[in-house]
Amino acid sequence: MTAPRVRFAPSPTGYLHVGGARTALFNWLYARATGGTFVLRIEDTDKERSTPAHTQVILDGLSWLGVGWDEGPFFQGAYAERHHADAERLLAAGRAYKDYLTASELDIERAKAKALGAPFRFERARHELPAAEQARRKTAGMPYAIRFAMPDAEIAWDDAVHGHISWQGRDLDDFIILRSDGSAIYNMAVVSDDIAMAITHVIRGDDHISNTPKQIALYRALGHEPPVFAHVPMILGTDGKKLSKRHGATAVGDYRDMGILPAAMRNFLALLGWSPGGNDEILPESDLIARFTLEHIQKKAAVFDAAKLEWMNGQYLSMLPVLELLAPVRRQLDLLHVQTERDLAPLIDAVKTRSRTVTHLAEQIAVRLDASRIVRDDKGSQFAAKLGDRFAANLRLVHQALSVCDASEWNAALLEAALKRLAESTGVKLGDVMQPIRVALTGGTVSEPVPELLAVVGREESLARIGRAGG
Ligand code: GLU
Repeated sequence: MTAPRVRFAPSPTGYLHVGGARTALFNWLYARATGGTFVLRIEDTDKERSTPAHTQVILDGLSWLGVGWDEGPFFQGAYAERHHADAERLLAAGRAYKDYLTASELDIERAKAKALGAPFRFERARHELPAAEQARRKTAGMPYAIRFAMPDAEIAWDDAVHGHISWQGRDLDDFIILRSDGSAIYNMAVVSDDIAMAITHVIRGDDHISNTPKQIALYRALGHEPPVFAHVPMILGTDGKKLSKRHGATAVGDYRDMGILPAAMRNFLALLGWSPGGNDEILPESDLIARFTLEHIQKKAAVFDAAKLEWMNGQYLSMLPVLELLAPVRRQLDLLHVQTERDLAPLIDAVKTRSRTVTHLAEQIAVRLDASRIVRDDKGSQFAAKLGDRFAANLRLVHQALSVCDASEWNAALLEAALKRLAESTGVKLGDVMQPIRVALTGGTVSEPVPELLAVVGREESLARIGRAGG
Protein backbone atom coordinates (compact mmCIF):
# COMPACT_ATOMS: atom_id res chain seq x y z
CA MET A 1 0.00 0.00 0.00
CA THR A 2 1.30 3.47 -0.80
CA ALA A 3 1.65 5.84 2.13
CA PRO A 4 -1.53 7.79 2.86
CA ARG A 5 -1.90 11.39 1.78
CA VAL A 6 -4.38 13.43 3.79
CA ARG A 7 -5.34 17.06 3.77
CA PHE A 8 -6.86 19.78 5.89
CA ALA A 9 -8.80 22.16 3.66
CA PRO A 10 -10.06 25.14 5.66
CA SER A 11 -11.86 28.08 4.09
CA PRO A 12 -10.17 31.27 5.35
CA THR A 13 -13.44 33.01 6.11
CA GLY A 14 -12.98 33.27 9.88
CA TYR A 15 -10.75 32.32 12.78
CA LEU A 16 -9.54 28.75 13.37
CA HIS A 17 -12.50 27.13 15.13
CA VAL A 18 -11.77 24.34 17.61
CA GLY A 19 -13.77 21.99 15.34
CA GLY A 20 -11.48 22.81 12.42
CA ALA A 21 -8.43 22.39 14.63
CA ARG A 22 -9.71 18.96 15.71
CA THR A 23 -10.18 17.96 12.04
CA ALA A 24 -6.65 19.16 11.26
CA LEU A 25 -5.30 17.25 14.25
CA PHE A 26 -6.97 13.99 13.21
CA ASN A 27 -5.49 14.32 9.71
CA TRP A 28 -2.08 15.11 11.16
CA LEU A 29 -2.25 12.21 13.62
CA TYR A 30 -3.26 9.83 10.86
CA ALA A 31 -0.35 10.99 8.69
CA ARG A 32 2.10 10.68 11.59
CA ALA A 33 0.73 7.29 12.63
CA THR A 34 1.02 5.83 9.13
CA GLY A 35 4.13 7.51 7.76
CA GLY A 36 1.86 9.49 5.45
CA THR A 37 1.85 13.07 4.22
CA PHE A 38 -0.27 15.89 5.62
CA VAL A 39 -1.21 18.49 3.03
CA LEU A 40 -2.59 21.93 3.90
CA ARG A 41 -4.90 23.46 1.32
CA ILE A 42 -6.50 26.84 1.89
CA GLU A 43 -9.87 26.92 0.11
CA ASP A 44 -9.98 30.60 -0.68
CA THR A 45 -12.47 30.50 -3.56
CA ASP A 46 -15.10 32.55 -1.71
CA LYS A 47 -13.50 35.83 -2.75
CA GLU A 48 -15.77 37.98 -0.63
CA ARG A 49 -15.26 36.22 2.67
CA SER A 50 -11.69 34.92 2.34
CA THR A 51 -8.93 37.19 3.60
CA PRO A 52 -5.14 36.84 3.98
CA ALA A 53 -5.58 37.80 7.64
CA HIS A 54 -7.84 34.79 8.23
CA THR A 55 -5.35 32.56 6.43
CA GLN A 56 -2.59 33.84 8.72
CA VAL A 57 -4.70 33.16 11.82
CA ILE A 58 -5.25 29.58 10.63
CA LEU A 59 -1.54 29.04 9.92
CA ASP A 60 -0.57 30.55 13.29
CA GLY A 61 -3.15 28.44 15.12
CA LEU A 62 -1.93 25.21 13.52
CA SER A 63 1.71 26.10 14.18
CA TRP A 64 0.94 26.90 17.81
CA LEU A 65 -0.87 23.56 18.18
CA GLY A 66 2.15 21.78 16.75
CA VAL A 67 0.10 20.46 13.85
CA GLY A 68 2.68 21.02 11.14
CA TRP A 69 1.96 20.36 7.48
CA ASP A 70 4.29 18.52 5.13
CA GLU A 71 3.09 20.15 1.90
CA GLY A 72 1.52 23.51 1.25
CA PRO A 73 -0.11 25.72 2.10
CA PHE A 74 -1.63 25.43 -1.34
CA PHE A 75 -4.26 27.97 -2.31
CA GLN A 76 -7.29 26.61 -4.10
CA GLY A 77 -7.77 29.86 -6.00
CA ALA A 78 -4.53 29.16 -7.88
CA TYR A 79 -6.07 26.09 -9.51
CA ALA A 80 -9.12 27.73 -11.11
CA GLU A 81 -7.90 26.76 -14.59
CA ARG A 82 -7.64 23.09 -13.69
CA HIS A 83 -11.10 23.13 -12.09
CA HIS A 84 -12.43 24.68 -15.28
CA ALA A 85 -10.62 22.14 -17.45
CA ASP A 86 -11.99 19.22 -15.40
CA ALA A 87 -15.53 20.54 -15.80
CA GLU A 88 -14.95 20.91 -19.55
CA ARG A 89 -13.64 17.36 -19.65
CA LEU A 90 -16.89 16.12 -18.10
CA LEU A 91 -18.83 18.18 -20.61
CA ALA A 92 -16.87 16.74 -23.54
CA ALA A 93 -17.42 13.21 -22.20
CA GLY A 94 -21.16 13.77 -21.98
CA ARG A 95 -21.09 13.51 -18.18
CA ALA A 96 -22.12 17.12 -17.82
CA TYR A 97 -24.25 19.50 -19.83
CA LYS A 98 -24.85 23.19 -20.38
CA ASP A 99 -27.71 24.84 -18.57
CA TYR A 100 -28.87 28.02 -20.29
CA LEU A 101 -31.88 28.56 -18.03
CA THR A 102 -32.12 32.07 -16.65
CA ALA A 103 -32.63 32.77 -12.97
CA SER A 104 -36.28 33.63 -13.48
CA GLU A 105 -36.89 30.46 -15.52
CA LEU A 106 -35.33 28.47 -12.70
CA ASP A 107 -37.60 30.23 -10.22
CA ILE A 108 -40.61 29.16 -12.25
CA GLU A 109 -39.42 25.53 -12.20
CA ARG A 110 -38.95 25.73 -8.46
CA ALA A 111 -42.41 27.18 -7.98
CA LYS A 112 -43.91 24.37 -10.09
CA ALA A 113 -42.23 21.75 -7.91
CA LYS A 114 -43.42 23.54 -4.80
CA ALA A 115 -47.01 23.61 -6.06
CA LEU A 116 -46.80 19.83 -6.48
CA GLY A 117 -45.33 19.50 -3.00
CA ALA A 118 -42.18 17.90 -4.39
CA PRO A 119 -38.60 18.93 -3.60
CA PHE A 120 -37.01 20.66 -6.59
CA ARG A 121 -34.42 18.60 -8.47
CA PHE A 122 -32.71 19.75 -11.61
CA GLU A 123 -32.94 16.84 -14.06
CA ARG A 124 -31.48 16.71 -17.50
CA ALA A 125 -34.51 14.95 -19.05
CA ARG A 126 -36.86 17.54 -17.74
CA HIS A 127 -34.91 20.79 -17.70
CA GLU A 128 -32.37 20.67 -20.49
CA LEU A 129 -33.42 23.02 -23.26
CA PRO A 130 -33.90 21.60 -26.75
CA ALA A 131 -30.77 21.78 -28.92
CA ALA A 132 -32.22 24.50 -31.15
CA GLU A 133 -33.02 26.73 -28.20
CA GLN A 134 -29.58 26.14 -26.76
CA ALA A 135 -28.06 27.11 -30.09
CA ARG A 136 -30.16 30.27 -30.19
CA ARG A 137 -29.11 31.27 -26.70
CA LYS A 138 -25.50 30.46 -27.52
CA THR A 139 -25.62 32.72 -30.58
CA ALA A 140 -27.22 35.43 -28.48
CA GLY A 141 -24.23 35.14 -26.13
CA MET A 142 -26.35 34.16 -23.15
CA PRO A 143 -24.52 32.83 -20.10
CA TYR A 144 -24.73 29.19 -19.06
CA ALA A 145 -23.73 27.05 -16.15
CA ILE A 146 -22.37 23.51 -16.45
CA ARG A 147 -24.32 20.86 -14.60
CA PHE A 148 -23.20 17.37 -13.73
CA ALA A 149 -25.45 14.64 -15.13
CA MET A 150 -26.03 12.60 -12.01
CA PRO A 151 -26.14 8.92 -12.93
CA ASP A 152 -29.28 7.06 -11.94
CA ALA A 153 -27.43 4.47 -9.90
CA GLU A 154 -26.53 3.62 -6.34
CA ILE A 155 -23.60 5.57 -4.92
CA ALA A 156 -22.18 3.91 -1.84
CA TRP A 157 -19.04 3.96 0.23
CA ASP A 158 -17.65 2.36 3.36
CA ASP A 159 -17.04 5.29 5.61
CA ALA A 160 -14.13 4.64 7.99
CA VAL A 161 -16.24 6.04 10.82
CA HIS A 162 -19.88 5.48 9.86
CA GLY A 163 -19.61 2.20 7.98
CA HIS A 164 -21.61 1.56 4.82
CA ILE A 165 -23.46 4.60 3.48
CA SER A 166 -25.59 4.44 0.36
CA TRP A 167 -27.41 7.06 -1.76
CA GLN A 168 -29.43 6.81 -4.90
CA GLY A 169 -28.36 9.04 -7.77
CA ARG A 170 -31.97 9.75 -8.61
CA ASP A 171 -32.38 11.44 -5.22
CA LEU A 172 -29.54 13.81 -5.99
CA ASP A 173 -29.62 16.95 -8.07
CA ASP A 174 -27.86 17.51 -11.38
CA PHE A 175 -25.82 20.03 -9.47
CA ILE A 176 -23.87 22.90 -11.00
CA ILE A 177 -20.14 22.26 -11.29
CA LEU A 178 -19.18 25.45 -13.11
CA ARG A 179 -20.98 28.76 -12.61
CA SER A 180 -21.80 30.98 -15.56
CA ASP A 181 -18.78 33.15 -14.68
CA GLY A 182 -16.55 30.10 -15.24
CA SER A 183 -15.75 29.49 -11.57
CA ALA A 184 -16.06 26.01 -10.11
CA ILE A 185 -18.33 25.29 -7.17
CA TYR A 186 -17.02 23.62 -4.03
CA ASN A 187 -17.71 19.97 -4.95
CA MET A 188 -15.96 20.33 -8.32
CA ALA A 189 -12.97 22.25 -6.96
CA VAL A 190 -12.45 19.91 -4.03
CA VAL A 191 -12.55 16.74 -6.18
CA SER A 192 -10.29 18.28 -8.81
CA ASP A 193 -7.79 19.26 -6.10
CA ASP A 194 -7.99 16.01 -4.17
CA ILE A 195 -7.27 14.09 -7.39
CA ALA A 196 -4.41 16.41 -8.38
CA MET A 197 -2.91 16.21 -4.88
CA ALA A 198 -3.29 12.41 -4.83
CA ILE A 199 -5.27 12.47 -1.60
CA THR A 200 -5.96 8.94 -0.37
CA HIS A 201 -8.01 9.67 2.77
CA VAL A 202 -10.50 12.49 3.30
CA ILE A 203 -10.94 13.04 7.02
CA ARG A 204 -13.43 15.86 7.68
CA GLY A 205 -16.53 16.89 9.60
CA ASP A 206 -19.66 14.80 9.18
CA ASP A 207 -21.53 17.90 7.98
CA HIS A 208 -19.94 16.96 4.64
CA ILE A 209 -21.57 13.51 4.39
CA SER A 210 -24.23 14.85 2.04
CA ASN A 211 -21.54 16.20 -0.32
CA THR A 212 -19.79 12.86 -0.48
CA PRO A 213 -22.07 11.02 -2.96
CA LYS A 214 -21.77 13.97 -5.34
CA GLN A 215 -18.00 13.94 -4.97
CA ILE A 216 -17.80 10.17 -5.48
CA ALA A 217 -19.87 10.52 -8.67
CA LEU A 218 -17.44 13.20 -9.87
CA TYR A 219 -14.41 11.03 -9.11
CA ARG A 220 -15.82 8.17 -11.13
CA ALA A 221 -16.89 10.39 -14.02
CA LEU A 222 -13.34 11.79 -14.10
CA GLY A 223 -11.97 8.24 -14.21
CA HIS A 224 -10.60 8.05 -10.66
CA GLU A 225 -11.30 5.82 -7.71
CA PRO A 226 -12.55 7.87 -4.76
CA PRO A 227 -10.41 8.09 -1.61
CA VAL A 228 -11.33 6.60 1.75
CA PHE A 229 -13.75 8.89 3.59
CA ALA A 230 -13.77 9.28 7.36
CA HIS A 231 -16.43 11.65 8.64
CA VAL A 232 -15.70 12.82 12.15
CA PRO A 233 -18.45 13.78 14.60
CA MET A 234 -19.64 17.26 15.43
CA ILE A 235 -18.61 19.01 18.60
CA LEU A 236 -21.35 20.05 21.02
CA GLY A 237 -21.34 22.27 24.10
CA THR A 238 -22.08 20.74 27.51
CA ASP A 239 -25.78 21.58 26.96
CA GLY A 240 -25.91 19.27 23.94
CA LYS A 241 -26.21 22.14 21.44
CA LYS A 242 -23.79 22.70 18.57
CA LEU A 243 -20.67 24.40 19.95
CA SER A 244 -20.92 28.13 19.43
CA LYS A 245 -19.77 31.37 20.99
CA ARG A 246 -22.60 31.07 23.51
CA HIS A 247 -20.57 28.31 25.14
CA GLY A 248 -17.46 30.50 25.47
CA ALA A 249 -14.37 30.72 23.34
CA THR A 250 -14.45 28.70 20.10
CA ALA A 251 -11.29 30.11 18.51
CA VAL A 252 -8.03 28.28 19.04
CA GLY A 253 -6.25 31.64 19.50
CA ASP A 254 -8.51 32.48 22.45
CA TYR A 255 -7.38 29.36 24.28
CA ARG A 256 -3.78 30.36 23.71
CA ASP A 257 -4.51 33.77 25.22
CA MET A 258 -6.31 32.13 28.13
CA GLY A 259 -3.11 30.29 29.01
CA ILE A 260 -3.82 26.84 27.62
CA LEU A 261 -0.69 24.95 26.56
CA PRO A 262 -0.52 23.54 23.04
CA ALA A 263 0.25 20.06 24.38
CA ALA A 264 -2.87 20.12 26.56
CA MET A 265 -5.05 21.54 23.79
CA ARG A 266 -3.81 18.86 21.41
CA ASN A 267 -4.50 16.08 23.92
CA PHE A 268 -7.95 17.50 24.70
CA LEU A 269 -8.92 17.95 21.03
CA ALA A 270 -7.72 14.44 20.19
CA LEU A 271 -10.24 13.03 22.66
CA LEU A 272 -13.13 14.94 21.04
CA GLY A 273 -14.57 12.09 19.04
CA TRP A 274 -11.66 9.68 19.31
CA SER A 275 -10.68 7.37 22.10
CA PRO A 276 -7.60 5.18 22.47
CA GLY A 277 -9.82 2.46 23.96
CA GLY A 278 -9.51 2.25 27.75
CA ASN A 279 -9.59 5.07 30.24
CA ASP A 280 -6.30 6.80 29.54
CA GLU A 281 -6.78 10.51 29.15
CA ILE A 282 -3.36 12.08 29.50
CA LEU A 283 -1.80 11.15 26.18
CA PRO A 284 1.24 13.16 25.18
CA GLU A 285 2.04 13.49 21.50
CA SER A 286 3.99 10.25 21.14
CA ASP A 287 1.13 8.24 22.72
CA LEU A 288 -1.45 9.92 20.53
CA ILE A 289 0.55 9.07 17.43
CA ALA A 290 1.21 5.51 18.55
CA ARG A 291 -2.43 4.83 19.35
CA PHE A 292 -4.35 6.82 16.73
CA THR A 293 -6.52 4.83 14.31
CA LEU A 294 -9.51 5.84 12.22
CA GLU A 295 -11.44 2.84 13.62
CA HIS A 296 -11.47 4.43 17.05
CA ILE A 297 -13.15 7.61 15.86
CA GLN A 298 -16.68 7.67 17.25
CA LYS A 299 -19.91 8.30 15.41
CA LYS A 300 -21.65 10.12 18.19
CA ALA A 301 -21.12 13.82 18.72
CA ALA A 302 -18.36 14.89 21.08
CA VAL A 303 -18.84 17.29 23.99
CA PHE A 304 -16.50 20.24 24.54
CA ASP A 305 -16.06 20.54 28.28
CA ALA A 306 -13.97 23.63 29.05
CA ALA A 307 -13.58 22.56 32.69
CA LYS A 308 -11.96 19.34 31.55
CA LEU A 309 -9.62 21.27 29.27
CA GLU A 310 -8.54 23.39 32.22
CA TRP A 311 -8.01 20.30 34.35
CA MET A 312 -5.96 18.72 31.60
CA ASN A 313 -3.94 21.89 31.22
CA GLY A 314 -3.15 21.76 34.94
CA GLN A 315 -1.89 18.21 34.48
CA TYR A 316 0.42 19.34 31.68
CA LEU A 317 1.67 22.30 33.72
CA SER A 318 2.68 19.92 36.50
CA MET A 319 4.18 17.40 34.14
CA LEU A 320 6.15 19.48 31.66
CA PRO A 321 9.73 20.52 32.36
CA VAL A 322 10.18 24.18 33.23
CA LEU A 323 12.18 24.74 30.05
CA GLU A 324 9.11 24.04 27.92
CA LEU A 325 7.06 26.52 29.92
CA LEU A 326 9.47 29.45 29.64
CA ALA A 327 8.20 30.81 26.32
CA PRO A 328 4.46 30.58 27.06
CA VAL A 329 4.99 32.09 30.53
CA ARG A 330 7.04 34.96 29.11
CA ARG A 331 4.25 35.64 26.62
CA GLN A 332 1.63 35.74 29.38
CA LEU A 333 3.83 38.00 31.52
CA ASP A 334 4.05 40.36 28.54
CA LEU A 335 0.25 40.33 28.29
CA LEU A 336 0.15 41.20 32.01
CA HIS A 337 2.76 43.98 31.42
CA VAL A 338 5.26 42.38 33.79
CA GLN A 339 8.86 43.16 32.94
CA THR A 340 11.66 41.33 34.68
CA GLU A 341 15.28 40.44 34.21
CA ARG A 342 15.01 37.54 36.63
CA ASP A 343 15.55 33.91 35.75
CA LEU A 344 11.96 32.67 35.56
CA ALA A 345 12.78 28.98 36.04
CA PRO A 346 12.71 28.90 39.87
CA LEU A 347 9.54 31.01 39.91
CA ILE A 348 7.79 28.69 37.44
CA ASP A 349 8.97 25.68 39.37
CA ALA A 350 7.54 27.09 42.58
CA VAL A 351 4.00 27.63 41.27
CA LYS A 352 3.43 25.33 38.29
CA THR A 353 1.85 22.43 40.17
CA ARG A 354 -0.73 24.77 41.67
CA SER A 355 -1.72 26.38 38.38
CA ARG A 356 -4.51 25.57 35.98
CA THR A 357 -3.51 27.86 33.15
CA VAL A 358 -0.38 29.69 32.05
CA THR A 359 -2.24 32.91 32.80
CA HIS A 360 -2.90 31.76 36.35
CA LEU A 361 0.75 30.75 36.64
CA ALA A 362 1.95 34.11 35.32
CA GLU A 363 -0.35 35.97 37.73
CA GLN A 364 1.25 34.16 40.65
CA ILE A 365 4.72 34.98 39.33
CA ALA A 366 3.67 38.61 38.96
CA VAL A 367 2.68 38.71 42.63
CA ARG A 368 6.01 37.21 43.65
CA LEU A 369 7.91 39.81 41.60
CA ASP A 370 5.88 42.89 42.35
CA ALA A 371 4.25 43.72 45.69
CA SER A 372 1.84 46.16 44.06
CA ARG A 373 0.08 43.14 42.52
CA ILE A 374 -0.82 41.61 45.89
CA VAL A 375 -4.55 41.51 46.46
CA ARG A 376 -5.66 40.18 49.81
CA ASP A 377 -8.34 37.64 48.93
CA ASP A 378 -11.28 36.55 51.11
CA LYS A 379 -9.44 33.60 52.59
CA GLY A 380 -6.45 35.79 53.41
CA SER A 381 -8.65 38.40 55.10
CA GLN A 382 -10.58 35.75 57.03
CA PHE A 383 -7.37 34.19 58.24
CA ALA A 384 -5.96 37.54 59.39
CA ALA A 385 -9.25 38.38 61.15
CA LYS A 386 -9.34 35.01 62.88
CA LEU A 387 -5.84 35.47 64.25
CA GLY A 388 -6.66 39.00 65.39
CA ASP A 389 -3.74 40.85 66.98
CA ARG A 390 -1.58 37.75 66.75
CA PHE A 391 -1.47 38.10 62.97
CA ALA A 392 0.68 41.24 63.10
CA ALA A 393 2.47 40.14 66.27
CA ASN A 394 3.54 36.84 64.74
CA LEU A 395 4.75 38.61 61.63
CA ARG A 396 6.89 40.91 63.79
CA LEU A 397 8.44 37.83 65.41
CA VAL A 398 9.08 36.38 61.97
CA HIS A 399 10.65 39.62 60.79
CA GLN A 400 13.03 39.62 63.76
CA ALA A 401 13.95 35.98 63.32
CA LEU A 402 14.51 36.15 59.57
CA SER A 403 16.35 39.47 59.55
CA VAL A 404 19.36 37.70 60.98
CA CYS A 405 19.54 35.35 57.97
CA ASP A 406 21.80 37.03 55.45
CA ALA A 407 21.48 36.66 51.69
CA SER A 408 23.74 33.60 51.62
CA GLU A 409 21.44 31.82 54.09
CA TRP A 410 18.26 32.76 52.27
CA ASN A 411 17.32 29.36 50.91
CA ALA A 412 14.33 27.12 51.59
CA ALA A 413 16.14 24.61 53.82
CA LEU A 414 17.72 27.19 56.14
CA LEU A 415 14.57 29.32 56.22
CA GLU A 416 12.49 26.32 57.21
CA ALA A 417 14.89 25.51 60.04
CA ALA A 418 14.79 29.12 61.24
CA LEU A 419 10.98 29.19 61.27
CA LYS A 420 10.77 25.89 63.14
CA ARG A 421 13.19 27.20 65.75
CA LEU A 422 11.07 30.32 66.09
CA ALA A 423 7.89 28.28 66.67
CA GLU A 424 9.61 26.08 69.23
CA SER A 425 11.24 28.88 71.16
CA THR A 426 8.09 31.03 71.31
CA GLY A 427 5.50 28.29 71.67
CA VAL A 428 3.56 29.72 68.67
CA LYS A 429 1.98 27.00 66.52
CA LEU A 430 4.02 26.43 63.35
CA GLY A 431 0.89 27.05 61.23
CA ASP A 432 0.41 30.44 62.88
CA VAL A 433 3.97 31.31 61.94
CA MET A 434 3.77 30.06 58.35
CA GLN A 435 0.31 31.15 57.25
CA PRO A 436 0.68 34.86 58.13
CA ILE A 437 3.85 34.88 55.99
CA ARG A 438 1.90 33.42 53.10
CA VAL A 439 -0.80 36.06 53.46
CA ALA A 440 1.82 38.81 53.77
CA LEU A 441 3.71 37.66 50.69
CA THR A 442 0.85 36.72 48.37
CA GLY A 443 -2.43 38.03 49.84
CA GLY A 444 -3.86 34.50 49.87
CA THR A 445 -3.68 31.28 51.85
CA VAL A 446 -2.59 28.86 49.12
CA SER A 447 0.93 28.70 47.72
CA GLU A 448 4.06 26.63 47.48
CA PRO A 449 5.56 25.73 50.90
CA VAL A 450 6.37 28.96 52.76
CA PRO A 451 10.17 28.47 52.88
CA GLU A 452 10.16 28.08 49.07
CA LEU A 453 7.92 31.11 48.72
CA LEU A 454 10.32 33.18 50.83
CA ALA A 455 13.20 31.95 48.68
CA VAL A 456 11.63 32.92 45.36
CA VAL A 457 10.41 36.30 46.60
CA GLY A 458 13.92 36.98 47.89
CA ARG A 459 15.33 38.38 51.13
CA GLU A 460 14.81 42.13 50.82
CA GLU A 461 11.39 41.89 49.25
CA SER A 462 10.14 39.21 51.71
CA LEU A 463 11.26 41.21 54.73
CA ALA A 464 9.67 44.35 53.30
CA ARG A 465 6.33 42.59 52.77
CA ILE A 466 6.42 40.98 56.22
CA GLY A 467 7.33 44.33 57.75
CA ARG A 468 4.42 46.09 56.08
CA ALA A 469 1.83 43.42 56.97
CA GLY A 470 3.06 43.25 60.57
CA GLY A 471 3.45 47.00 60.96
N1 GLU B 1 -13.33 24.10 2.66
C1 GLU B 1 -14.20 23.06 3.15
C2 GLU B 1 -14.61 23.41 4.56
O1 GLU B 1 -13.96 24.21 5.20
C3 GLU B 1 -13.46 21.76 3.09
C4 GLU B 1 -14.29 20.57 3.22
C5 GLU B 1 -13.51 19.29 2.94
O2 GLU B 1 -12.66 18.96 3.76
O3 GLU B 1 -13.75 18.68 1.89
O4 GLU B 1 -15.60 22.94 5.05
